[in-house]
Amino acid sequence: MNYLQQTMKRVLMGPGPSDVDPRVLEALSRPTLGHLDPHFLEILDEVREQLKYVFRTTNELTLAMSGTGSAGMETCFANLVEPGDPVLVCINGVFGMRMADVAERCGAVVSRIEVEWGKVFDSEQIEQALKNKPAKVVSIVHAETSTGAGQPLEEISEIVHNHGALLLVDAVTSLGGMQLEVDAWRIDACYSGSQKCLSCPPGLSPVTFSSAAVKKMDQRKAKVQSWYLDLSMIRQYWGGERLYHHTAPVNMNYALLEALKMVSEEGLEHRWQRHVNNHQILKAGLEAIGIQFLAQPGHQLPMLNAVAVPEKVEDLAVRRQLLQEFGIEIGGGLGAFKGKAWRIGLMGASATQGNVMLFLAALEKCLAAQPYRFEKGAALAAAIAKAEN
Ligand SMILES: *Cc1c(COP(=O)(O)O)cnc(C)c1O
Repeated sequence: MNYLQQTMKRVLMGPGPSDVDPRVLEALSRPTLGHLDPHFLEILDEVREQLKYVFRTTNELTLAMSGTGSAGMETCFANLVEPGDPVLVCINGVFGMRMADVAERCGAVVSRIEVEWGKVFDSEQIEQALKNKPAKVVSIVHAETSTGAGQPLEEISEIVHNHGALLLVDAVTSLGGMQLEVDAWRIDACYSGSQKCLSCPPGLSPVTFSSAAVKKMDQRKAKVQSWYLDLSMIRQYWGGERLYHHTAPVNMNYALLEALKMVSEEGLEHRWQRHVNNHQILKAGLEAIGIQFLAQPGHQLPMLNAVAVPEKVEDLAVRRQLLQEFGIEIGGGLGAFKGKAWRIGLMGASATQGNVMLFLAALEKCLAAQPYRFEKGAALAAAIAKAEN
């Protein structure tokens, strides 16, 4: 067993989870309180206030669902969609596909529009789709983690609302890592996950709903198909009545609160900028050794760098070596990108210049063992030059 295997020390630079700060781990280990203990209820109130800050919203219905990002996705669809409701799902990667699957399971009549993986939608495509077939809800992924593409939302939101629909946004990867404006962009339902740019362990899913979304929930005729995710009950626990629904994951909420405090101490704008800066340094380094980004130029995500595995280079061998020799985890490709992409995450606590430099140096060593020609040292040289200016 080598040193790394013994310590299990990792640098998490994949599509999530990201590195967790010791402050957050310490919070996780504090004594467990009862889920109705007045002190714990105060903690939940604080979680809600901090979530409003990161979502940039005043939405009253803002809370952390028990479960990972996918639970947040199901929460949004299960509560907003009634059987037979027409829903438009925009698909440009794995998570758009997952949304369509979830919407169908909730009884939606789903229509799909698709663009090539790595590309983003332009607002006319949404306009056209809604003209062809009206929808009550339009769902779209803000940061498509499977392709590294970032979807602009402002114009799309205007079109969706002009057509009288609600806008449902997947912000699992974007929240806390890039600009997201729930109120200013009029997003009606938005969900995220604790383990990406918030850098908390996986297990909670922040969600927020506009008053229009709440109105649609309040007017439901059919019960929400999922008992566990039914917000009409969960609201009464997070809200005034404090009615027991299910046992809140108490310690996970301590951890999330600590992670959110770290976000607000840094300041959201500074955090977004840190992600951009480190992305640019990484990109300069990768491109200097001929590695190409897969997402559409101008729409490449700072926190998720999807690049093409160079020809003849063995995807798995490189990722295994990165993990075994350097303790660095990066992601492979999903779906259409399986075996063809590396997904290098710079999320939350993982988005540091130290990690970028370490990764580029480690990657050069791994690539040197592959049938791939590049100028040795060029990645670090370019990264250093970029970091200096
Ligand atoms: C990770 C991710 C999810 C799913 O979250 P889980 O925590 O794995 O359930 C959904 N959407 C996007 C865009 C993601 O990156």
